[in-house]
This record gives sequence, structure tokens and C-alpha cells, in this order.
Amino acid sequence: MIRRFFSKFLYFSCYYGMISFSQPKSMIEKSKINVNWKVIGHAQQKLYLESAFFGNRLTHSYLFSGPPHVGKTALALDFARLLNCENGNLCGKCLACVNPVEIFSELIVIDKDTEIKIDEIRSLKRDLALKPLSGQKKVAIIANAENLNRESANSLLKFLEEPQKDNFFILTTAAVGFLPQTIVSRVQKINFSPNSKQETEKHLNSLDISKAITKQVLELAPNKIGLANILSKNIEELERWRQQDMELDDLFSQSVFERMQYTSQISKLETQQIVNIFKTWLILSESRLRQTKQKDMKAQTDFIKALNTALMHFKSNLNKRLVLDNFVLSF
Ligand SMILES: [Zn+2]
Repeated sequence: MIRRFFSKFLYFSCYYGMISFSQPKSMIEKSKINVNWKVIGHAQQKLYLESAFFGNRLTHSYLFSGPPHVGKTALALDFARLLNCENGNLCGKCLACVNPVEIFSELIVIDKDTEIKIDEIRSLKRDLALKPLSGQKKVAIIANAENLNRESANSLLKFLEEPQKDNFFILTTAAVGFLPQTIVSRVQKINFSPNSKQETEKHLNSLDISKAITKQVLELAPNKIGLANILSKNIEELERWRQQDMELDDLFSQSVFERMQYTSQISKLETQQIVNIFKTWLILSESRLRQTKQKDMKAQTDFIKALNTALMHFKSNLNKRLVLDNFVLSF
């Protein structure tokens, strides 16, 4: 049992980063000012950021690392607004608090599912070079930072090494193992855990959606408020995830030969489309793993490992068909 626990722990350590919160608790103090965070949950992470902000212990670069769709980028946005809030508490009234991201000139966001290229980092540097308004701070948020390619990561690294006084970076990732160690060693790492099912349910109950939708969303995303939010507002997306959930069931019940036939079909898709399917399966599998009985855990962890390996191979541009064949033989 200890070994099983350990192998599960090692897997998550590799993919999401260490599970424990990286900052010693003695460093975290409750500030007297009430910050009106919009993001639900993640109390320890908020407390740490408040402590750094009010205690003048800010560093220039942060890495929010943890499972996908739990609110890392949303908290990064909240934090960027807090850094610039006129009342210093996310008042919800000043321009920094209410300006949409698109017209908030002190905030630059790169948030995409595909490769982040060097031109985008160059453009980010140009934007950061413009002086912020008096008393304001420029904040660059790079979500899904694992999508930086080698060139763009190197270009960003030079910037992280010599940040300007008023510049702050917040990188977020669900796959810290895909980030170059040179970047990880330059940033203050803050680890995130999945949301609790109660938090997700409470959030869904606060939305104007039917009980049937709430139930479906909660089944697919019990521990991911970010995903629950997307699915509750987009019926087509909800249907796509339900479909993928059913395909996952099929895949588990199929023989290797049937799986081969299935992957032969999906091999006709573009690599990026296959990567998106695998990422969806990874998220669904993680939710399943949390509800899996001990005796079925090995099958789930083997499947998750197989997905991770395939994603790594896709990122290395290995032959698509070869990656898929290896994948079906690995679980
Ligand atoms: Zn404000």
C-alpha cells in the first residue's frame, strides 16, 4: 500500500509539481486588510500572496503550478489587479479592479493551448518596456507556460533574470515537468491543489443553471471549478466532454486490437486535435482516480502514465502513428 501511495505521489509530483505548499507556514501571516478575492478556494495560496504584498516581500516572478482548471490563471488575474488596486484590497470599484483585460494597459496576458512562439515573447517584452502609469505595476501572465518552446523559453529567461522594478511575471502550468529547469529555478513556485467537490457544488448552485446541468457538470468536473464554469455556460462543450467521457469508458473495455482500430481512426486527425483529446482524457482520468477504489488504482495510474508519455512524445514531434501504437500497448 505504501508503494502504491508512493507511485501515485511520484506521478503527481512529476506532472503537477510537489503537492505540498512550498512556503514555510511561519512565513505566512494573516493581514489585517480584507482582500476581496473573486476566486473560490485556495486559502493558503491567497494568504501567502497577501503576506508577500502587504509585507513588501514581493518577488518579480511567480509560477502557479497545479492541476488544470482549478483557478490558477483566475487567481493570477486577481493578484495582478490587487497589485494595481487603488485601495489595495481588490475593491471592485477602481479601474484596476473593473477594467476588462483587453483594455487594462498594465496587464499583458498570453493564454493559449498551442505553442508559445518567440515573437509573442518579443511582443510581450515591447509591451513591458512601456512605462506603467504612475504608481502602477506592469504584470505579465503567461498561462499554460509549458507551451513555451525552447526559443521562447530562453528569451523569457533573460527577462526573468533581470526584471525591471515595476515588472511582474506570473506563469501558470499544469505540467511543470515540461518547463525548463532554468525557468523553474528563477521563479517563486506556488503549488495548487484540486478544488473540493463541496466548493465546486457551492459555486454551481450559485449559478443560474438547471439541476440537471449541475449534476452533469459535477460528474465531469467535481474538483475543477474552472472547468465546471466553462461547461455550465457552454452546452456544446458540455456535450463534447460527455462524449469524451464515454469514449474513455469504451477504451478501457476494449481489447488491444479494438484499441488499435480506434487509434487508427483518430490518427487521421491533426496532431493538435489528438493532443486536445488526450488532454481531455487526462483531466477526466484525474477526476476518476480521485474516486477510484484502491484495487482499481493501478489501471488508472497506468493509463495516466501512458497519456503523459504520449503527450511528451507529441511535443517532441515523434511520428504520430508510432506514438498512438505505443500508447495503446502501454495500459
Ligand atoms: Zn480596486
